[in-house]
Amino acid sequence: MKVSKSAVGSAEADAAARIVVKGFLGMGPEVRAFEEELAAYLGGDAHVACVNTGTSALHLALQACGIGPNDEVLVPTLTYVASFQAISACGATPVACDVQMESGLLNLEDAVGRLTPRTKAIMPVHYASATGDLESVYRFAQANGLRVIEDAAHAFGCSHRGVRIGANGDVVCFSFDGIKNITSGEGGAVVTRDATVISRVRDARLLGVEKDTEKRFAGERSWEFDVHAQGWRYHMSDIMAAIGRVQLAKFETELAPKRRALAAHYRDRLSSCPGLRLFRNEAECVPHILPIRVLNGLRDRVRAALAAESIETGIHYKPNHLLARFSATSARLPVAEQLYTELLTLPLHPSLTISDLDIVMDVVQSTLNR
Ligand SMILES: *Cc1c(COP(=O)(O)O)cnc(C)c1O
Repeated sequence: MKVSKSAVGSAEADAAARIVVKGFLGMGPEVRAFEEELAAYLGGDAHVACVNTGTSALHLALQACGIGPNDEVLVPTLTYVASFQAISACGATPVACDVQMESGLLNLEDAVGRLTPRTKAIMPVHYASATGDLESVYRFAQANGLRVIEDAAHAFGCSHRGVRIGANGDVVCFSFDGIKNITSGEGGAVVTRDATVISRVRDARLLGVEKDTEKRFAGERSWEFDVHAQGWRYHMSDIMAAIGRVQLAKFETELAPKRRALAAHYRDRLSSCPGLRLFRNEAECVPHILPIRVLNGLRDRVRAALAAESIETGIHYKPNHLLARFSATSARLPVAEQLYTELLTLPLHPSLTISDLDIVMDVVQSTLNR
């Protein structure tokens, strides 16, 4: 049993084949349609720019906000290394912050203590699809003139106080890699209401060729153009967008309800289990992963017992300040370091069944009772 798995089938294969047979594989009308459908789904008046990965979405979002060398970005240490690498790709310094024990989300008080005159942005990470107290993050950012770049890789389809993540944030980045809530094979998106930021992202994803997005959406190419800013080859292809459109169309009817139902079943059975702690439940989320805490030093024993039954688990994540590349950023972050010894991610993806989950939880509970 896999811990995560793409939920794709013949509809996605047909969509990809339709583009291949058409013979235009690059960025064109499918990407344009996917962007429009994403904007409509997210609601509000946010603009969407699709790119080739969630990591490039973060990189371009930071760059478009003017983050560069000598700047610092506050970021929780408990995240995928993508968040940190995107910041350092701009020449900026990721400043690792501690997290909250009950949620795994950024501990804002810790972040406040790390504010310096060089701090230019804060990157909250919606760990395990939770959004927590986003208002306080935005209030802090506003009071200190910081941009907010949300790493919403886990949070596609989630809402916060009735509003979809992405609809009204400063700059919000999604990932559509193979195992995320929706996938386009690989892929990602930058979502923002800031017209300047979105226009910079659109140019920068195509090597900085100005207005190339508009040309490609019209089925043309730019031969006479100018370039002012550093750009990258980060655009999404029509093959990817065609897959993403199929996923988006079935997200609310199939993928999201399945993820919610599975996570609810885990919570029903595990919330009263001694020796375990679940992270705080958020009713408006579509759970991407299901990390739990195994207390009393028993995590590795439970993990081994599951592995013996061919049940794969994960550890989300090794704190980034413990990685050689980012070890200089913060000395000790005690909550994240404790969580790192306790975290265990149980299998969660749409092709699992309730009885699969019962097998997983039987192993977990019998190991803890032993
Ligand atoms: C998946 C993920 C990313 C990066 O997305 P990719 O599409 O894989 O590049 C960034 N941050 C977090 C927290 C993620 O889980």
